Amino acid sequence: MTFQRIAIIGLGLLGGSVGLAVREYLPDAVTTGYDANPATRSRASERGLVQTVCNTAAEAAQTADLVIFCVPVGAMGAAAAEIAGSVQPGAIISDVGSSKESVLKALADALPDNVIIPAHPVAGTENSGPDAGFASLFRNRWCIITPPEGTDPAQVEALSGFWQALGANVEVMTPSHHDLVLAVTSHLPHLIAYTIVGTASDLEDVTQSEVIKYSAGGFRDFTRIAASDPTMWRDVFLTNKDAVLEMLQRFTEDLTALQRAIRVGDGEQLFDHFTRTRAVRRSIIEQGQDDARPDFGRSDHTGS
Ligand code: NAP
Repeated sequence: MTFQRIAIIGLGLLGGSVGLAVREYLPDAVTTGYDANPATRSRASERGLVQTVCNTAAEAAQTADLVIFCVPVGAMGAAAAEIAGSVQPGAIISDVGSSKESVLKALADALPDNVIIPAHPVAGTENSGPDAGFASLFRNRWCIITPPEGTDPAQVEALSGFWQALGANVEVMTPSHHDLVLAVTSHLPHLIAYTIVGTASDLEDVTQSEVIKYSAGGFRDFTRIAASDPTMWRDVFLTNKDAVLEMLQRFTEDLTALQRAIRVGDGEQLFDHFTRTRAVRRSIIEQGQDDARPDFGRSDHTGS
């Protein structure tokens, strides 16, 4: 089973990248698209993000055999409701959202007659909007597919094949396990970056210009993450609340242990901890998930 007609709802970074990647790697597929923002629709037409940019989501989805929602996770339910009654019952409904349990529920509630197979390509940048997408975004990145229990394996296989054609490596897991894993690998790091950049900019005894001038000392890398889209990340924290709070609790305990090591002068504990974390970095580079260059491969792209 291969998809012939793909509808993309939401034509920002992710939707635009899916459209451009389909054009490049699945040139026989027909693409339609829709975005709630008229300026984004017109820019999407100019860039050719999909073959036909429609004026309604229903029009974009009506002939599709695969519909992919690429809107913020908090907007998934409303976006899906717009195609109810227009989409073919046999069409597979998927998405690219960064949290999965809440998205599965939102899509299933809005489209009870369709097969829903959520997915999350762990690939992105801190940029958003219709100019941000590029065809190679998913190459060599993981795409996690989270089918609800009882999904026909042939349909999961078809969606896996789609993402593999765009260059991704595919992993299948439950929505709740996805949410726990991503809480620690993506959501918590973003929360920490948002916190530390906010703390630095609120300091009274260190000036803003000093923070910017000496930012190379670690802070700069946090600012890249903390520049990520506010709408997207507000929605991620609101929809993956339980897993994020659980990981935050673990993080706080570990931070307290390091705080104590600093206070009591336990250099051995600090050294052992930093040695362990350095090995994690080495494994990430060895597995091709990041770049050892001093710019962290920033000219390329990162996962989110
Ligand atoms: P984006 O660049 O802001 O694009 C989202 C687009 O969806 C915007 O143009 C937005 O319009 C539009 N939209 C909002 N509500 C809509 C609706 N009801 N119907 C149709 N269009 C609607 O965001 P993105 O980075 O592509 O993120 C999209 C999804 O990908 C999110 O669920 C996010 O969690 C996931 N994701 C993001 C990354 C990343 O690094 N950015 C990585 C992996 C997955 P307005 O701007 O006018 O609201």
